[in-house]
Amino acid sequence: MRRFLYTAWPSRVVFGAGSLAQLPDELERLGVRRALLLSTPGRADSARRLAESLGARAAGVYDKAVMHVPLAVAEDARRVARELGADCCVAVGGGSTTGLAKAIALTSGLPVVAVPSTYSGSEMTTVYGLTEGGLKRTARDARVLPKTVIYDPALTLGLPPATSAASGMNAIAHCVEALYAQDGNPITSLMAEEGIRALAAALPLIMKNPSDLDARSDALYGAWLAGVTLGTAGVALHHKLCHTLGGSFNLPHAETHSIVLPHAARYNRDAAPEAMARVARALGASDAPSGLYDLELRLNLETRLSAIGMREADLERAAKIACDSPYPNPRPVEVAGVLALLRAAFEGRRPEA
Ligand code: NAD
Repeated sequence: MRRFLYTAWPSRVVFGAGSLAQLPDELERLGVRRALLLSTPGRADSARRLAESLGARAAGVYDKAVMHVPLAVAEDARRVARELGADCCVAVGGGSTTGLAKAIALTSGLPVVAVPSTYSGSEMTTVYGLTEGGLKRTARDARVLPKTVIYDPALTLGLPPATSAASGMNAIAHCVEALYAQDGNPITSLMAEEGIRALAAALPLIMKNPSDLDARSDALYGAWLAGVTLGTAGVALHHKLCHTLGGSFNLPHAETHSIVLPHAARYNRDAAPEAMARVARALGASDAPSGLYDLELRLNLETRLSAIGMREADLERAAKIACDSPYPNPRPVEVAGVLALLRAAFEGRRPEA
């Protein structure tokens, strides 16, 4: 007999090409008057243009968002929000920008409007992260959940194909782990399977033609679902490994996710047969781990940790850190198996079907 818990988080989603034009109406709906726009330095121009289009409704632009939300940046942004008398944050960008908005919301209670331009999914979760002294801490808090999310696939047209592919695999990883998460549930699983299907179909089309708006729309839809799965079910060994490799070895976030995923799936395959059957079905493959690996190849993604800065000498330490305080996982997490997994990812071997 089924027993499960499902928490539906309240957020309003406006989806569709051109939907960014609805930002003023959405701010009105929230009753806010002075929005602080947030972006990374690279996306400052588009944040500034958006601020101009908002006129008096924009309090200013803070364009110093960086990966993993360093505490010093969060504190600086909180100060700017206070000094400008902002009553809301609008995050225009990927997970790094949304993460900064969440850090502001955490201490100020300001509502967040997220306008995602990657497939990270952060906008649909109550998870926030802050990095201090090289250590990233993550936690959940309902205050940081964006009140409104505007998904405009037109904004993703400029996301370079390689970044799109890696970011899309990051989203697929949320879905895969939601399917075997300890606190998984049938509702989240529906979204996870559909998210994988949408992303796996759209990403190869984006690689062929990055301006394909239909494919961009499908990928963003998949990313939304992936974000919901991350927000409504936990994660397991794969995310633990990626947090370890990113946090302690400084490997790039999305690329690490895409390289590790087939191997983490292989590690868990026999312990989570129902989840793997759903992943395989969504990919149109006969086997989930090798199907994920083959998708990576189709997307021209790097398959070797060795190529993105991992040193062979550090594999054992990484395995030990990941096993020290493991996340719940369908197959018991033990050092020898995890080391073998990391070695396969280091060399980029195709998981056996
Ligand atoms: P990112 O936000 O760092 O963006 C990567 C780069 O792409 C940046 O330089 C950015 O300026 C640029 N960019 C973004 N959108 C673009 C576009 N449309 N066109 C051109 N360039 C664009 O990367 P990300 O992968 O979206 O986010 C990663 C961060 O998000 C990590 O810190 C990760 O831990 C966090 N994250 C958090 C959650 C959560 O639930 N809290 C979920 C997923 C990821």
